[in-house]
Amino acid sequence: MKMHHQNAITSQDPAIENDPTEETVTEDTAETDSFIYFDDSDIQERLEECQNSILGKIVSEKAIHMNSIQNALSNIWCNPKGFRVEHIGDKLFHFFMDEQEDMKRIIRGNPWFFRNSWLIVHPWRRDIDAQSLEFRHAPIWIQLWGLPTQCRTKQMGIKIGSSIGTVLASELYEYPDKKLIIKIKVNLAVNKPIKAGIYIGSAKDGAHWIDFRYENLPQFCFACGLIGHTEANCKLHDTRTNTESTNKNVLGPWLRYNHFGRRIMDYKDRKFSSNPTKCKNYGHYMHPIPPKMLEEMAEMSMLNHIKDHPQSHNTNEEHTKKGGSIIDMSQPSSSTPLWLTVL
Ligand SMILES: [Zn+2]
Repeated sequence: MKMHHQNAITSQDPAIENDPTEETVTEDTAETDSFIYFDDSDIQERLEECQNSILGKIVSEKAIHMNSIQNALSNIWCNPKGFRVEHIGDKLFHFFMDEQEDMKRIIRGNPWFFRNSWLIVHPWRRDIDAQSLEFRHAPIWIQLWGLPTQCRTKQMGIKIGSSIGTVLASELYEYPDKKLIIKIKVNLAVNKPIKAGIYIGSAKDGAHWIDFRYENLPQFCFACGLIGHTEANCKLHDTRTNTESTNKNVLGPWLRYNHFGRRIMDYKDRKFSSNPTKCKNYGHYMHPIPPKMLEEMAEMSMLNHIKDHPQSHNTNEEHTKKGGSIIDMSQPSSSTPLWLTVL
């Protein structure tokens, strides 16, 4: 109020004289009649109930049977003490439990599976309106298969992961057969199509297709790549363009993988599973390399060569013998034996 007073002295602005904050401190009974003030003592009971509670949304177009959800989730979450469910919106729930440890454990496990769909959870907070929470992202581990040996770095994992979403982690994992892969944890957008993989390329290493293998991916549509429905219920099914129909060859159940492998440096984890390259569907498809990408890499390769050999790029005998710039693809992955020479 002191500041306001000083301003009023130095300014003749009538807006300051009529400052609306002035009205809130006056005793206006007409205003207070339409406003009921409450404090925490009025809602104490509910606050205590809510303090270890979780909001959750099931990402699915399927109908949910309300009478089964409490028992099913109690089983999935190992019977949290005092577990109770409230239905608060479209596939949106408020889960209550007594113990903070249970609450933290369930939040750490995000996202969960419920009837082959994702259940995305979020800790309840009194300043967040559950209806406005969007539940649009889920943290998911993705294995990157097909990276050339020299590209298996955490930095490459971050670079590739950035094309999918926010990268939360990038780690080197070792498999029982001594194979090394990069695994990335990405905050995946649940309303965007699942990607089967991506091309990476450099002038020196050529183009490589990298297979994405998602750990704990729920049911998704092999036609459009979206989570929450199957091909039979796909809205794009009848109106698919040629580009979309090629997805059918790429998207399939093989994109879903269980967690396995061992993070390098983490010697406590000794639980292994099978090798994904033994999956009968693994590596059975091959993307055509986009011609534009080949052109760009050929140009990059030429430029690199000129930069490395500025005096001899026109007369280099070895180079002209090979008839042009060679993109070295000598490190193909076992699943994608992709050799390519760009002339
Ligand atoms: Zn679909």
